[in-house]
Amino acid sequence: MASNVSEELRTQVARRAEHRCEYCLISEADAGFSHQVDHVVSRKHGGSSTANNLAFACVLCNRHKGTDIASIDLLTGKAVRLFHPRHDQWTDHFRLEGPVIAPISTCGAATVRILRLNAPERIAERRLLQSLGRFPLR
Ligand SMILES: [Zn+2]
Repeated sequence: MASNVSEELRTQVARRAEHRCEYCLISEADAGFSHQVDHVVSRKHGGSSTANNLAFACVLCNRHKGTDIASIDLLTGKAVRLFHPRHDQWTDHFRLEGPVIAPISTCGAATVRILRLNAPERIAERRLLQSLGRFPLR
């Protein structure tokens, strides 16, 4: 999905994110596959391939996010946007509870659900990385 992002722009996006996924925070060095450049607002929805619409994302976050920009809040039934790494602060929407990424906003809750941030295998991976002092890297 990032075919029109130049290598130079990818490098810029990766460096800005300190080579961590901007959704689940895993370092590219600890992921099984190279992280990808995510269009926060997908091209399908008119998003551009410019730095202010791009985020660094691990393969799993990027795959689960797909072209989604919003979901439905399960409590209210209302549309709720997903976390936007360029406009939002991670700590305003999530907090780490051990290896679990706990949402602290409706936007955070939708993002955790759609991106499957707390799938059992992802929690297990974070728990292992924490035991090695590799998560979260700051
Ligand atoms: Zn991720």
